Formats: sequence, structure tokens, C-alpha cells
Amino acid sequence: MAQVIDPVCDMMVDTETAQYTSDYEGTTYYFCGAGCKRAFDKNPTEFVGKAQHDNGSGGQDSSTNS
Ligand SMILES: [Zn+2]
Repeated sequence: MAQVIDPVCDMMVDTETAQYTSDYEGTTYYFCGAGCKRAFDKNPTEFVGKAQHDNGSGGQDSSTNS
């Protein structure tokens, strides 16, 4: 029994009972529902990247770095 975070909506999902999963770059992601899985499948990098730098500081400020 293990719980992981649905990368789309940040809900806890139990890997034992999850019905919606997706493999991306060798990692399995779990979703609370079909809608989240579909959103992930559409644009996985958006959600995978988000998990890496979850800073919560309002978002798009990556243009001032050159
Ligand atoms: Zn979800």
C-alpha cells in the first residue's frame, strides 16, 4: 500500500486502487480520475516539470534570466 500524488490536481492517490495511470519516461503516474489522466497525457511535461520546482510563488517569471 502506497500513496502518491496525482501530479495534475495534487490529490493523494492509492497505487493499489488507482484506476488511471500513465507511464512517462519510465515513471508511472497515478491519477484520481480520467480527466486528470487525460490532461496529463495531453501535456506530460507541464505536470512533471511542475512537481520538480513547486515553489508556489505565482508562476511565470522565467523570462528574466539571460
Ligand atoms: Zn486528479
